[in-house]
Amino acid sequence: MLAKEAGIAVNRGVVVNDVMQTSSPDVFALGECAEHRGSCYGLVEPAYEQARVLARHLAGRPAAYQGSVVSTNLKVSGVSVFSAGDFMGGEGSESLVLSDRRRGTYKKLVIADGRLTGAVLIGDTIDALWYLELIRNRDKVTAIRADMIFGRALAQPSEAA
Ligand SMILES: Cc1cc2nc3c(=O)[nH]c(=O)nc-3n(C[C@H](O)[C@H](O)[C@H](O)COP(=O)(O)OP(=O)(O)OC[C@H]3O[C@@H](n4cnc5c(N)ncnc54)[C@H](O)[C@@H]3O)c2cc1C
Repeated sequence: MLAKEAGIAVNRGVVVNDVMQTSSPDVFALGECAEHRGSCYGLVEPAYEQARVLARHLAGRPAAYQGSVVSTNLKVSGVSVFSAGDFMGGEGSESLVLSDRRRGTYKKLVIADGRLTGAVLIGDTIDALWYLELIRNRDKVTAIRADMIFGRALAQPSEAA
């Protein structure tokens, strides 16, 4: 690999810091080849976010890449499936689950430190972008915690209209 042969630090990908700088200060990396905080991303959107940070940095403006919240929106055998963020959950997080087998819908929201950190939606993905926004904004969701799993129309009726 080009970077390795040039003596640049490479792990799973070319190791970069929060401004996409490699171990060689004049060399930057982004996209699929870059490894940031142990993560490599195989999608286009994280590369765009990294490019925005690098462009700001090269223009002398403050910028720091914090990692990307990756989401997928697919149809599996005709059923809509969405996932975003840390949808598995784990120690230090709690999961809210709403499962309605008769309607063929399943929702799981993962909350950590009062913030939404992950979501899985099967069957009903109408609120996918709202959940993604909540995850990306990292705002506290304590005020809407009780209704959040029922969707934006119930949890934030004034903003859903
Ligand atoms: C079949 C397929 C479907 C995909 N679908 C999606 C999708 O729906 N949504 C999504 O977000 N992502 C998708 N991806 C992933 C997405 O394509 C990649 O994450 C994205 O293209 C990575 O961009 P990049 O610029 O980092 O790398 P690349 O797009 O791979 O660009 C790297 C470039 O560097 C060039 N290069 C390599 N070595 C050298 C060298 N030594 N010297 C000079 N040039 C070199 C290559 O020719 C290439 O042009 C898909 C990928 C595949 C393969």
